[in-house]
Amino acid sequence: MGWLTRRRRSGNGPRLSHVTRAAVRAARARAAAAGLEPDDDHSRRGTERHIVFRGGDAELAKRYLLDLPPVEERLLRYVVRTPDGTWGRDSGGLYLEALRPWQRDASAADCTGTVVAVAGLRGLVLASRGQGDNFIAEVACGRCEHEWYDGLRYQAVTAVRCPHCGALNGVDSGCVNVNPF
Ligand SMILES: [Zn+2]
Repeated sequence: MGWLTRRRRSGNGPRLSHVTRAAVRAARARAAAAGLEPDDDHSRRGTERHIVFRGGDAELAKRYLLDLPPVEERLLRYVVRTPDGTWGRDSGGLYLEALRPWQRDASAADCTGTVVAVAGLRGLVLASRGQGDNFIAEVACGRCEHEWYDGLRYQAVTAVRCPHCGALNGVDSGCVNVNPF
């Protein structure tokens, strides 16, 4: 895709990835159009490269991340920190770094939301193994039927707030099961 260039540090060394300057410029321009600001956007964690932004609206952040070209490099991820969670996109797709604390208690839910589709198998498999506290699914509001992407606990009820009508939905992911075989 011309999105990344690769080289080897040495004959037997780890393969490094380099985001091209043009790709970083394109990601920044898209971010500015989505109302996001660069935030420590050249950070590295070990061999991972993180392109980090911050924004005030989680829905805009998710839309920005979903509209990016596919992330084909395992060591690259885009991250947007918002007041409503840290969202990211890597080669496995959209992810939520960690559930927000209020999501664990759905006892005050206004209605029951439903799982429309699972978005990305990797996050689901990791969550089923207890690696990561959520996976991303497309969910539908039980009050207004609006559909959006949110993080859910595996085989449990999660509280999610509809970005359209504001209803607190309890969503049971018991219907989503990973069969290891
Ligand atoms: Zn709604």
